[in-house]
This record gives sequence, C-alpha cells and structure tokens, in this order.
Amino acid sequence: MPGLPGAFHWLIYVALVVCLVVAAWLFNRRVRAAGVSPAELAHGLRELASKGPGEALAVVGAEVFGQRRVRRRPYAGLMHLLIFGSYGMLTLGTVLIAVQHDFTGRFFGVTFLNGNFYLVEKALLDTAALGLLAGVGMAAWRRLAIRPVTLGARPTVVVAYAALAVMAATGLLLEAMRELAYPVSWSHWTYAGHLVALAITPLVGRLNLGAYQATWVVHVLAAFIFMGGALATALDHVVLVPLNIALQSSRAPGELRLPFNLAELLESGGDLEGVSSGFANPSELDWKRRFMLASCVNCGRCEEVCPANAAGRPLSPRKLVQALKGDLLSPSDGAGDLFARGVLDTDAVWSCLSCGACARECPAFIDQPGTIVEMRRHLVEEGNVDEAKALVLAQLERNQNPLGLPSYQRFARLAEAGVPTIEENPGAEYLYWVGCMSSYDQRAWGVASAVISLLRLAGVNFAVLGESERCLGECQRKLGDEAGFQMRSMEIAETLRSHGVTKIVTHCPHCLVTLGRDYRSLDMEFQVVHHSELVQSLLAQGRLPTPKSWEGGKLTYHDPCNLGRLSGVFDAPRGLAASVAGESFVELERSREKSFCCGAGGSNYFYKVPAQESVSGLRLAEAQAAGASTVATACPFCLSMLEDAARTAPGGQGPRVADLAELLAEALGLEAAAAP
Ligand code: SF4
Ligand code: SF4
Repeated sequence: MPGLPGAFHWLIYVALVVCLVVAAWLFNRRVRAAGVSPAELAHGLRELASKGPGEALAVVGAEVFGQRRVRRRPYAGLMHLLIFGSYGMLTLGTVLIAVQHDFTGRFFGVTFLNGNFYLVEKALLDTAALGLLAGVGMAAWRRLAIRPVTLGARPTVVVAYAALAVMAATGLLLEAMRELAYPVSWSHWTYAGHLVALAITPLVGRLNLGAYQATWVVHVLAAFIFMGGALATALDHVVLVPLNIALQSSRAPGELRLPFNLAELLESGGDLEGVSSGFANPSELDWKRRFMLASCVNCGRCEEVCPANAAGRPLSPRKLVQALKGDLLSPSDGAGDLFARGVLDTDAVWSCLSCGACARECPAFIDQPGTIVEMRRHLVEEGNVDEAKALVLAQLERNQNPLGLPSYQRFARLAEAGVPTIEENPGAEYLYWVGCMSSYDQRAWGVASAVISLLRLAGVNFAVLGESERCLGECQRKLGDEAGFQMRSMEIAETLRSHGVTKIVTHCPHCLVTLGRDYRSLDMEFQVVHHSELVQSLLAQGRLPTPKSWEGGKLTYHDPCNLGRLSGVFDAPRGLAASVAGESFVELERSREKSFCCGAGGSNYFYKVPAQESVSGLRLAEAQAAGASTVATACPFCLSMLEDAARTAPGGQGPRVADLAELLAEALGLEAAAAP
C-alpha cells in the first residue's frame, strides 16, 4: 500500500472486525427468523463431524465448490461459477497478502509471495477481477434484461452486485495507478491492471495522491459493504445454501423422513398415542427442516422440471416451498393448519407424483417430495382425504392390495403357470416378488409371464410367496399412512425371514425401492434386484441367448422414476434394450436422471387431480417426437399409463408400449408362461 498513511491498513482491520460482527448479527437474525438457533446449527454440524464428515465434505465439495447442480443451467451456471470462483480467489489472494504483510513478514521476516509464485498469483488475481466483473455483468443482464419471473431487481441485491463490481474495478484501477507511480518490469503479469494503466496514462498529470487514496477507500468500502451486508439481501444463499447442503448430505434420493420407528416404539412398550407423523404448520417442523425451507432461493428450477406443473396441475414445487417458507418467516393470521389458513391448497399436495425430479434439480438441496408426503401424513391423520384415497387405504387393510381384489386370487395366475411357492421350493436362490399389478391386472400379468419364461430359460432357481405375498405398502406410504405402512412392513419382513429369504428379484421399481431402501431404513435388510439387472446379467453370462433380429422399428426406453432417478439403475435396462433392438435403439430427450414421470407415481395411479393435460400424454408425445414405434419400459405402472396414453394418442393409435422383459421374451420366441 505505497502512498497510504500507516494507520490506514490498521483501520482496515478495525473495519473488518465491524463487518464480521455485522455479518454475524445478520446471520443470527436470519436463522432465528426461521426458528433456528445458531446453537442448534452448531450442534448439527458437530454431529455431522462426529459421524465422519467424509460424505458431507464430498457433497459440499461437489455442490458448493464444484457447483455441480448449478452448472446444469449454462447461463446461470457460468454466472455463478464466475462470481463464486472469482470472489473466492480474490479473497484468498487478499488473505495471503495480509498474512505475509502483517504476520509472517512483520514478526518472522518470512515472505512467500516471491518470484514466479508471486507473478502467477498476480496474473490469477487479475483474471479473477475480470471474471468477477463478467459474472456481475451476467447477473445484471439476467435480472434486468432476461428477467425470469422468479428473479427481480430488488434494491438490496442491486447494491450487493454493485459493491462487487466496484470492488473488482477499483482493484484494477489501484493496480494501474501503482504501476504508473512505481513502474516495474513485470507489469505484463498484472495484465488487466496494465491495460487500465495504458488507458489512464493520458490522465497521469491529474492523478494525485488524493485520487489514489480515495480509490483505496472506495475499494475497501465496497468490499466490506458486500461482505457485511450480503446476508441482508437475497444473496444470503451464499451462506445458507452450503450449510443446508452439508446438513442434508446424508439423505438418499427420495428417502422419506422417519417420524418414528414403530417396531422400536412397540418394543419399548410405547404406542402411537399423541405421535404425529406429519406437520400441520411449518413451525412444527424440526429445526433442520425449518432451515431447509429457509434456504430456498426461489430459482424456479424445481418448477421447470416438475411433470405435475407441466401438465397444468395445481402444483408448483417452487411456489409450495416459497409458501411454506413465507409462512415460517411470518405466519399468516388465522386458526388451524396451513390448509385451513389458506397457505396451501390440498390439491397441490395431492398433485405431486413423488418423482423426485425437483429434488434432483434443486441447488439448495430442498426435499420437496418428502415435505409433501409429510403434509399428506397430516391430512390422513386428520381424516381430511377424499373418497378415492380413503378407499385405497381401506382396500389395503381389507384385501391387502390397493386394487380391492380378493387376496386369495393373488396366486391364481402363478399357480396356473406352475410357479412353485417358497414352501414348495425352500432352496430357491431368488424369491420373485410379483407385486399387486402383475398379480391382478391382466395386462401387467404379461410382464410377470415374460419374466418367469426368461428365468426358466436361464435355469434360475426361484419361487414366489404365493398367497402370503401382499402389498408392500408403497402407495400407502406415499398417501401418508406411515403407521399403516410400518405395521405392514414388519409383518412382511417377518414372513420373508421365516422363509429364510435373502435375495429377491422384482419387476416393479416401486417394490424395488420399498423392499430395498425403505425397509432397510427400518432395519430390515434384503438384497433386492430389479428384473432388468438380473436378466441383463444372465445375458452377459450367456445363460440367455441374444436375440438375432428386431423388426419393431425405432425402440426407445422410458426410465421409470423409481428405477432410474431414485435407484440409480440406468445401464442394465439400456443394455437389454440394445440386446433386443441393436442400432434401432434411440434415447428420449429427457432420459436417465432427467426422465419425465409417467403420471402414476406418488399413488396418483389411484386417484384423479384437476389438470389441463395428462402427464402420460406429454411423455408419450416425447417418444413420438423421437420417432419411436415401440416404447419400452420396466415398470408395470409406467406400462399401464403409457399404454393408456398410446390408446388415446391424437391422430389414432400411438406407438406400442411394452416391458423390456416382454420384448426380450418375444424376440427369443418364448411362449407366455400361462395364458392370461
Ligand atoms: S425449492 Fe430449490 S429448486 Fe425450487 S425454487 Fe427453491 S431453491 Fe430453487
Ligand atoms: S416430486 Fe415430481 S411431481 Fe412432485 S413436486 Fe417434485 S417434480 Fe413435481
């Protein structure tokens, strides 16, 4: 800081302390408004550290420093990367200068900003200053010219961005002024400052010490206004989002919060009297979930990918989270739960398909589907459900399936096909979990029939539970009957254990997620594979032949949400599709993690909500746009929804819809296991 009075840089330290105190005060105010105390937050972070912070650090590293989700949108991603990366580099560079100048150099005579390291650092800092200016320019353009509906040019945000721009610009100006006053031979390393120096050379006569000092004051003030004040603006996400990401890092995609563990509760002599599994108002949520809601940045990414929103259903996950956040920060007047107070409409909650697209996209790691299920739990506890949903829950209790068909008919088709029960074949390697759809639905039986034929051809030793199989309760859980689901899961796990079952294969991704992930979270562990994984491995081992020819035209594959996004099974079904159709396989535009729901998820298969279009119709139109003659899927619910959409497709019959197992069995010339 040549040319500045000695006291100036000590004043900077004083200002830094003031700035940090203001930032801490604002942070405290911010989190307390969400009903969270800094002590709770600190406790949560300590808890995370004590569990071994590896997972949290990896997620924070990828999402905060690597900006993994933010980068998915090219414009916003580049803008964030430029601002975040450049600000980080400039902060680090400033800290290094302070450490050398006022600590290692002053007290120990040790300097490290020397030689080539110093030159490279100077060039990097100039690049960061330019990057920051470019990022702020992009942010200004986005808010003022592009103007996405969710972002406005609020005055506080404008001040914060202006402070960043002034800080970067005056930094380069100071570098230029110094170069003019104290020319150096390596000025090309500070290339941006050097260019500014060339530009202001004509002004040299008028550049005096006063101008230099004034520029310094402006530079420092701008830096501290941003640092101290960002938490008072919508840019508070710089702090809140990384903290929320760390706190939510251990949650698996689609994993629902356990309000209680019924088995443990009953074992300890407790009961469910007075225990609530959902929430009536956001203020009742635990502090982590209150903090999560407060972290929403209103970016609208969840809304963009939401199939319910796309179909014109009364649900926008962004508006839903914002409504909950608004009610948390300043509760609306009135008595009763959030529905009675008009914060949300129940139709919004029932419109959700639990597809997880929003949660995958959310840069703040907000769990929209889980939050929605918790509101459904409250509605079920209050008995605030319509006839269709109440009927599904009643049928599950009465008939052990959501379709309301007699439980004794569950085994009828399997018996006819000669499939042994686990009692008849206790040494079976796999238990085949058939699920409600294929046990009762004529069309879905075709999937089970194909799976049975393939397993027999490959010589897999398998059996079924037969009449003691019952609904796993996925739809019950998604409808919000958590206690009923847990009670059911305990009984089913007991049945499976009594037969010594460890390995299970299922063709239903809903059963896969429930038996594999949900039961595990309740301490009931089974190895569960999807039929696409098992059949693909049988093909790879040569236990099944590869089909020779395909005459079905272009084949595409629809990723079921529960199999793809929520279970991470993407390659096995594609391997099967390629085995069947070879080069005729085409990807849909929204595939793998970006897949678009068929419209059946979240128990929506069993009831109707107001909508402008059908979700399955939108998905089928995408397959038609890809020129597909056949749409393969790997879920009986997707099969039913897409087939319905194909039947009613505009312009007559749509493409053929079939399960991958059906296509493979057909290509291998296998007979159906039994006539439907
Ligand atoms: S919930 Fe997440 S994706 Fe949706 S608006 Fe908020 S921050 Fe954005
Ligand atoms: S889970 Fe799917 S349907 Fe539900 S809010 Fe998220 S994106 Fe929309």
